[in-house]
Amino acid sequence: MSANEFELLGALQQALGDQLVLTGERIPTKARSDSSRTGHHLPKIYIRPRSVEDISRALRVCNNHRGSTVVQGGMTGLAGGANPDREDVVIAMDLLSGVEEIDIAAGTMTVLAGTILEVAQKAAEQAGFLLPIDLGARGSCQIGGNLATNAGGIRVISHGVTRDNVLGLEAVLADGTVISSLNRMQKNNTGYDLKQLFIGSEGTLGIITRAVLKLKPLPVHRATALCGVSCYEEVVALLRRARKSLMGLSAFELMWETFFRFSREAEHLKAFEADYPYTVIIEQSGETVSLEEFLGTMFEEGLVADALIAQSEKERDRFWKIREGLSLGKLPHLIEYDVSLPIGVLDLYAKEVTAALATEFPGIHVSVFGHVADSNIHLCISAGQIDVSAKHRINAIIYERVAQHQGAISAEHGIGLLKRDYLAYSRSPEELELMRRIKQALDPHCILNPGRVI
Ligand SMILES: Cc1cc2nc3c(=O)[nH]c(=O)nc-3n(C[C@H](O)[C@H](O)[C@H](O)COP(=O)(O)OP(=O)(O)OC[C@H]3O[C@@H](n4cnc5c(N)ncnc54)[C@H](O)[C@@H]3O)c2cc1C
Repeated sequence: MSANEFELLGALQQALGDQLVLTGERIPTKARSDSSRTGHHLPKIYIRPRSVEDISRALRVCNNHRGSTVVQGGMTGLAGGANPDREDVVIAMDLLSGVEEIDIAAGTMTVLAGTILEVAQKAAEQAGFLLPIDLGARGSCQIGGNLATNAGGIRVISHGVTRDNVLGLEAVLADGTVISSLNRMQKNNTGYDLKQLFIGSEGTLGIITRAVLKLKPLPVHRATALCGVSCYEEVVALLRRARKSLMGLSAFELMWETFFRFSREAEHLKAFEADYPYTVIIEQSGETVSLEEFLGTMFEEGLVADALIAQSEKERDRFWKIREGLSLGKLPHLIEYDVSLPIGVLDLYAKEVTAALATEFPGIHVSVFGHVADSNIHLCISAGQIDVSAKHRINAIIYERVAQHQGAISAEHGIGLLKRDYLAYSRSPEELELMRRIKQALDPHCILNPGRVI
């Protein structure tokens, strides 16, 4: 450590006590990388604040010493945003955890940022509510990480993205100032909506410490079906019809053929007798369930070629297991992309990109699935051990076509480190300049997640 780094360490130990300030072998190896598996270094200092005051003190010290910090939540991010450099101070949020209050009358939850999403979901359920934020990483990701990345997930079709489920939050600025904006009301037009500065800013404008989240009534029934569909136009027509006729439509997720086959086989699960180019998982939640009736009509009209309705919770979990596609994680050197495009061009885009990649990288694996109702698809690409220039070329193939179709290079996972150099494919020079000005105003010494996003 340099003399400056020793000074910073001493000041942090003085502010927080030795127990919460880890160095050397006491730093857990999980601090190296988020789930993108692109992080290479352990930080020089790793702190585990127990309270908002600890975070405030730590940031004040880092700001005074110009020490760069990186916030780590559940480390399930896929944009490299939480990956530290050697000289960084990591602020790990896991000890700042717990559901503080469920307000039954208002239908709100106040929760600390380090709380695991699934823990918050279960607390809501026990109180008879649904916490609408939900994603495959629920068992590890934290509420603070969900807000910082404005996570999407599988319930966006009915409840919106994370941003739509937040009423208020508390955050600590780079200089240690605590901004408590813990609004609990649906309506509050008292000046700038400050929470929006922090939601989706990937830890670059402040550390989120608490949130007030909206809760919804817990659905009584849930019906789930897997549907084989013969062409993309029918997928879009089925979505339109489901939105119009199916009360309580709570999921409409599309799997392209390669993804469905790979994930189904890896999970050793059976589905249809025949193969279909598209498989949709449809879920309906609510008091009354008529998914069966709806699918009967769709079958008669020819929009659905085959359908399996889950007959039990176990079967429902099996359907979702295919969709969650965790087995794709076993593919070597997997790269994941999450792009947004108008619904009408999703299939065209998937086909264009798959063809372009196969031409330049013979043998490449490309699987596509997505939250089609939210205009968002994921591409899972495995091209084996490739060098940096090949990675850039793959990124260019993916992102140039996103720009051509006026889409967004990230729908869900954020920009982090991995997509920063491609942000201009989706945002104008004026927008980027405004983002820099906001960053400069809130974090003039650039100590919060430096180099991320912009
Ligand atoms: C299996 C799997 C499924 C997934 N499915 C989805 C999905 O459907 N939709 C989706 O959007 N994402 C998905 N993701 C990505 C990921 O789970 C989300 O981005 C999640 O919100 C990240 O939360 P985290 O706590 O793990 O954050 P981390 O990975 O720890 O951090 C993510 C970013 O947020 C910052 N951050 C973390 N906590 C805070 C805080 N308290 N204050 C300020 N900044 C903070 C970090 O510095 C980093 O920049 C998935 C990931 C996996 C592995």
